[in-house]
Amino acid sequence: MEGSQTLNSLGEFGLIESLFKPLQSGAVAGVVHGIGDDAAVLVVPRTQQLLTTVDTLVEGIHFDASADPFRLGQKALLVNLSDIAAMGGNPCWYLLSLALPPGMTPGWMEAFVGGLRVVGERFGVTVVGGNTTASGSGCVINITLMGLVNQGRALTRAGSLAGDRILVSGTIGDAALALAMRQGRVPAASDGADGAYLDARLDLPEPRVALGLALCDAAAFHAAIDLSDGLVADLHHLCGAAKVGAVIDAERVPLSPAARRQLERDPGLLPLLLTGGEDYELLFTAPAGAAELLAAISRDTGVPLTDIGEMVAGRSTVEVRRDGQPLLLEQGGWRHF
Ligand code: ADP
Ligand code: MG
Repeated sequence: MEGSQTLNSLGEFGLIESLFKPLQSGAVAGVVHGIGDDAAVLVVPRTQQLLTTVDTLVEGIHFDASADPFRLGQKALLVNLSDIAAMGGNPCWYLLSLALPPGMTPGWMEAFVGGLRVVGERFGVTVVGGNTTASGSGCVINITLMGLVNQGRALTRAGSLAGDRILVSGTIGDAALALAMRQGRVPAASDGADGAYLDARLDLPEPRVALGLALCDAAAFHAAIDLSDGLVADLHHLCGAAKVGAVIDAERVPLSPAARRQLERDPGLLPLLLTGGEDYELLFTAPAGAAELLAAISRDTGVPLTDIGEMVAGRSTVEVRRDGQPLLLEQGGWRHF
């Protein structure tokens, strides 16, 4: 396909035949019928339950027209994988629904599908169907991802108890910092390598699928959520679901070396790091005394885990402390409306 063509010459069915059907992987189990019929037919083993999640990326809201389509394809699937990870599930199949603007080129579509392909291969998931339509303007990408979890074992947001430890994977605030830099709200990183690192954390989040599976297998953890809205806002969701409060120490929140360097330059960035969205790390609660189990899981999965605080009895509020004093945070996390 030529990059200068528009999609009109290819048509909806040309796209399906030339791009989406080849994206299907025969290596993923459970697909009786994939692309090509009115609905996909999938096998859910009797001992398991189906997890489903959907995320939408809208041009002008989540990405610009100038966004790299290869990275965008990757991110569209990565953010869905993070939701399945947060439930402790094994991701399997996805549906791809696209609304494409008039100027869309086959070259853009090929790069976008290339992004889906590399992430799909890496995590063992395949497309099984979708929908393709025109849009008046702007591109809308909608992915519904399905996964499997053993009966009754999904790791939900509810169930935290007062006295539980609060744990978080990886590092916090990198994506928010990268977005603020890109939008000119924060000066760019002085070190180019730091800038590239932060950009990659925003564009290519690392869904914690292996960690979610390990937490689920251990059957010792109370609740989990993935960090899409921001650490404080998402911790608030865990509190609300369990009717308990949370106290975390700002000093213990794990930061990447790049984020730490920006914070040293401007200590005023702390609220942005703690409340900014799109970390796609897992936040979960563990009974006190699970430290050894957590260390083993961290070792096995290669994912750093940090204890940042404790769930407490009382109102479902989140208190962030610094030097033992409550820190007032104005930004409560990302909200669309
Ligand atoms: P129907 O009209 O019955 O909904 P379509 O003609 O829209 O079916 O689609 C034909 C087949 O192509 C279906 O199996 C559908 O799942 C698949 N398909 C359509 N668009 C996409 C897409 N963007 N990605 C993957 N599969 C798609
Ligand atoms: Mg039909």
